[in-house]
Amino acid sequence: MPHRVTFIPGDGTGPELAKATQRVLEATGVEFDWDFQDAGIDVYEEEGNALPERTLDSIRERGLAIKGPTTTPVGSGHRSINVALRKEFDLYSCVRPCKAYEGVRTRFPETDLVIVRENTEDLYAGIEFEKGSPEMDKLRGFLADELDSPVREDAGVSIKPISVFGSERIVESAFQYAEENGRKKVTAAHKANIMKFSDGLFLEVAREVAERHPDIEFEDRIIDNLCNQLVSRPEEYEVIVLPNLYGDIVSDLGAGLIGGLGLAPGANIGTEGAIFEATHGSAPKYKGQNRVNPTALMLSGVLMLRHVGETEAADRLENGLAEVIRKGDKVTYDLKPSRDDPSAVGTSEFADAVIEEMGS
Ligand code: NAD
Repeated sequence: MPHRVTFIPGDGTGPELAKATQRVLEATGVEFDWDFQDAGIDVYEEEGNALPERTLDSIRERGLAIKGPTTTPVGSGHRSINVALRKEFDLYSCVRPCKAYEGVRTRFPETDLVIVRENTEDLYAGIEFEKGSPEMDKLRGFLADELDSPVREDAGVSIKPISVFGSERIVESAFQYAEENGRKKVTAAHKANIMKFSDGLFLEVAREVAERHPDIEFEDRIIDNLCNQLVSRPEEYEVIVLPNLYGDIVSDLGAGLIGGLGLAPGANIGTEGAIFEATHGSAPKYKGQNRVNPTALMLSGVLMLRHVGETEAADRLENGLAEVIRKGDKVTYDLKPSRDDPSAVGTSEFADAVIEEMGS
């Protein structure tokens, strides 16, 4: 039976990355029944909706999607599609492996860690009070009168909810990931020394969950210390579980450790489905130029293959990618020693090289 998957090419450089990824996934020999669906700025301009209902229906029906990046306009226009998808399908866990493949330019070649980011709570919950608004005035009154905690009149406020429910399921999923993938240690990151009732709760729950997994080592790190250690000895970390905002920032830090955004894949997994996509955005300045690196989306495809139990195909695709990167010959500009190296190949030729490597 072919795997039924919704494929969202996205916008900007998304469609060219998607085409290259589709080709390498099909070259593994695994059968897919793709349902191509729109999301992003192009469909927004045509239909006034960046995430049409037909796209949501397709994911609802299949429970599985792979997605190219989509642009989120700053200030005006539509809201983030990724945030909408996370909410719609309760994609509470964002898994981002950061592995430095041989041949990439990195100061940290020994990096091989996995970031597990909580996706639904924290400062991303969208509970915000605008400076000068009636709601903000009410909140200021409450804080001053009831809690003796005045805030300035010219302040805006964002609320950071972190629950036992949300913390428990994300930490549990980090331990499960460790168990299923032969990892020995989980590190929880937080700022519990300052935010006792949100990060403190996260840490307390993490410790309780850790007790249920005695075979996996557990430790915690204050987030600033973790950042310092990641850029000095990343090899000491295996699986790192974090609340939403720290997870967002540390994911990009992780991408930097392994050689850049073009190499960092991701999986958003939840109760209502799983959506696989790269960490990077739509890189619109390179749109239509057949230039950007498809590795991150291809590795997201590797994660999808593993998710559906196609382990052998996943290994073959990952090894093919690793070989192309190691040889460093048929790679995109970002993997060359100089950004304007004339020997860099395009997105599509990179896919050809991966397919050739898988066949050999
Ligand atoms: P970006 O990740 O799109 O690009 C930043 C820079 O990183 C690019 O200019 C390029 O130099 C490099 N880069 C990114 N991907 C690359 C690749 N595959 N190969 C080689 N180099 C690559 O970040 P941005 O410019 O801040 O965001 C552009 C748009 O993407 C924004 O609208 C943002 O909201 C959106 N975005 C979408 C997603 C998503 O869909 N998952 C994630 C992040 C950002």
